[in-house]
Amino acid sequence: MHLTGTIVGLTLFIISIVTHYIGRFAPSPTGVLHAGSLAAALASFVDARAHDGRWLIRIEDVDTTRCKAEYARSILETLDRLHMTSDGPVIAQTDRLDRYREVFVALLKKGFVYGCSCSRLSIQKTIQEHHLAPHRYPGTCREGTTEPIRAWRFKTQDRSIAFDDRWCGHYEQNVYQEVGDFVIKRADGLFAYQLAVIVDDHDSGINHIVRGADLIDNTPRQIAIHEALGWQCPSYMHIPLVLNDHGDKLSKQAGARALSDDLLAELESAWQHLGFAPLGADTMDAFYTRAVALWKERFQ
Ligand code: GLU
Repeated sequence: MHLTGTIVGLTLFIISIVTHYIGRFAPSPTGVLHAGSLAAALASFVDARAHDGRWLIRIEDVDTTRCKAEYARSILETLDRLHMTSDGPVIAQTDRLDRYREVFVALLKKGFVYGCSCSRLSIQKTIQEHHLAPHRYPGTCREGTTEPIRAWRFKTQDRSIAFDDRWCGHYEQNVYQEVGDFVIKRADGLFAYQLAVIVDDHDSGINHIVRGADLIDNTPRQIAIHEALGWQCPSYMHIPLVLNDHGDKLSKQAGARALSDDLLAELESAWQHLGFAPLGADTMDAFYTRAVALWKERFQ
């Protein structure tokens, strides 16, 4: 009886894992949708459809110094024209500040966060004077500070954090050694992307993340926060970046152009960027049907 209950429970659990795929596309509205963000949108969308899963859109506007409402509108409008519609309400990070505060306090209470009074300049000075690793926070305020607090840092542990990326394979990083304690609430009072992204993914039940490879070295930091909160980590797939002629990631700053009006042609080139042969589809729906079938063959 007891065993039967356990088996039924386990089966339901496995079914929920197999069928309950929830993925997302989380653009930052710092510019319009371009070829780079389209590749991430397409890969995450097709992956969700290939798993019969749900796909959600989230506007990552937590950094209000760089984001603009008009870009968010334009991105959503373009996704709509691409027939990529969210399977749930579109959320915006600026509507979720109270929730970030709540999780921030939880981390603080658990002893994972400390106040830091270092300025960028003082960090640079410490690094130079002591010949320390150039891009790592040297831990100056780790044991406390009597100076006014400028930012809040997550206390990292000296251990390797590893995961199997569905595109890139095994990846590992010792965040403590390579990055050091990192900021989760910034000097200007804004919550950092590293915290917001974890809270949003968790609260939306996201269990599959497909995004650009520029974020792969952020992932161990995000896993560290997940683990500190006792939350289950999603699976990850980091897709190759679309680069400009100088080898830089496409962005508004790096001169990314807006997509042309021929969105089917734009989809075809994003698809080829993901390593597939052109589909030659004449409608968007035909494009997605073929793409999902091929994606299933390769990634399931
Ligand atoms: N908002 C990030 C971007 O637009 C993506 C973050 C993520 O997918 O976790 O590059």
